[in-house]
Parts: sequence; structure tokens; C-alpha cells
Amino acid sequence: MLSMKTNIIPFKIKKIMDTSDDIKRLYQEIGRLELKQKKFDAQINDFKLADVIHAKVCKWNHSDCCAYEYQSWDNIGTERSFYLDKAKSVLKIVSYDTAIKVIKCL
Ligand SMILES: [Zn+2]
Repeated sequence: MLSMKTNIIPFKIKKIMDTSDDIKRLYQEIGRLELKQKKFDAQINDFKLADVIHAKVCKWNHSDCCAYEYQSWDNIGTERSFYLDKAKSVLKIVSYDTAIKVIKCL
């Protein structure tokens, strides 16, 4: 119960009301996501579509079966090459925006 004689808020109530740490954490998360989005947006459509196709259809274990996450677009390995070929094939038929919409429905 709050004391009417002082302005001191008991610790438990203050902790519930003080969300500054949560707000700070969420702003840091927003910053991290904005940077991730910026990197994604800066990629060419072939790479972005390959990433989306991989994220949607690859069911392999990414610890020891699929190396996609360990490769980069600067160092394209077998897995990225496989999905890049798929992306390029799709983009010969439909636009990037249409391809994204279709693949997200899978
Ligand atoms: Zn994979």
C-alpha cells in the first residue's frame, strides 16, 4: 500500500511502472531490425528472392545439413547457387513483387 505521508513509491510498484529498460531494449531491437532491413533492401532482387525462397522452402537442419546461412553473396557456395538459380528462373517469368507474393503463399 502506498504511503500517503511520503512520495516514496515502494520498489515493486516502481518496477511495474518504470518501463524505461523495456523501451530502451525495444529501440535497440528496432535499430537492429532497421539495419537488417537496410542490408536486405540494398541487395539485388535475385539475391533477395533467393533468400525468401530459401527461408520458405528449405527444411534442412541449418546446424549441419544446409550451409546457406554460412555462405554470403560475396562467397556463393553450392546452396546459395542452387537458390539463386531458382530465383533467376522465377524472375524470367514474373516480376519480383509478384514472385514474393506467390512464394509467401507457399
Ligand atoms: Zn537451408
